[in-house]
Amino acid sequence: KAPLVEVKDVRKSFLVRKGWFGGDKYLRAVDGISFDIGKGETFSLVGESGCDKSTTGRLVTRLLAPNEGEVWFGGQNISRLSDHQMRPLRKEIQMVFQDPYASLNPRMKVKEIVAEPLLIHSKLSSHERDKLAAELLEEVGLNSYHAERYAHEFSGGQRQRIGIARALSVRPSLIVADEPVSALDVSIQSQVLNLLQDLQERYGLTYLFISHDLSVVEHISDRIGVMYLGTLVETAGKDELYERPLHPYTQALLSSVPVPDPKLKKERIILKGDIPSPVDPPSGCRFHTRCPACMDICKQLKPEFLEVEPGHQVACHLFDENVRRMG
Ligand code: SF4
Ligand code: MG
Repeated sequence: KAPLVEVKDVRKSFLVRKGWFGGDKYLRAVDGISFDIGKGETFSLVGESGCDKSTTGRLVTRLLAPNEGEVWFGGQNISRLSDHQMRPLRKEIQMVFQDPYASLNPRMKVKEIVAEPLLIHSKLSSHERDKLAAELLEEVGLNSYHAERYAHEFSGGQRQRIGIARALSVRPSLIVADEPVSALDVSIQSQVLNLLQDLQERYGLTYLFISHDLSVVEHISDRIGVMYLGTLVETAGKDELYERPLHPYTQALLSSVPVPDPKLKKERIILKGDIPSPVDPPSGCRFHTRCPACMDICKQLKPEFLEVEPGHQVACHLFDENVRRMG
């Protein structure tokens, strides 16, 4: 079965400074990443802030176009589609943002916010939109009380439910959720995550879930991709990744995730230094300046993204037979 989303060696740079004699400075935000998302699956992108997970999300929604590589959606290459050509696909791909407050219009009633995408994507009358908004609010655990009020009257968790109802209004097949629970209290986080899972089952939704927090994505993910400085360093099924992380960066991230059973607690790996600037990223493996296992070759040669087990890819020379043979 063909995946719903295919990201093929995608690159995206932004001009940060005009330089003399063609010495323009580019920020190489996304530096050649590839992954697929199956229909009905939840794929999570995880990494520290500044690793350009959000840029990747925006490339998948085609809010951004890649400089190189391709993004496929539903078996169609959407990388170079014009805005006009993208229009019918816009309703298939919806976003849920981190800060529901910032993304909700303060002057609109909740029922208007929820039904707003239908103004563009449907010919429903205002009465029909109200009716649909009421149904959508019910689906996310809200009701007619909320419908007639304004978003600022509600808590962060309720606002995120409003944002989710709005995304659902056009019956999308893919939802890109960018840090959807990061601003919420832990107890509210699990409620919203459970809601997202229920909705996924009910509507066969596919999720691209973006988070800096590996403990948040554990329950919701089918597969996880770990990003570091614009590169994908490891992808694996959820259980495989948590039980057998291969990349030194994944191991460090996981070592700081709290585990319920203290016997299972691994020693915390503290990484030295900060994430380097993506304007002048490190040569070779971008992680080499912070990697506890760094070898000489890591400073020169960028590791390939290789499948080491079925469905488990890693970009690290430690797992590259050819590099190991070279010694
Ligand atoms: Fe560390 Fe080298 Fe692997 Fe990069 S390639 S993660 S520097 S061991
Ligand atoms: Mg699932």
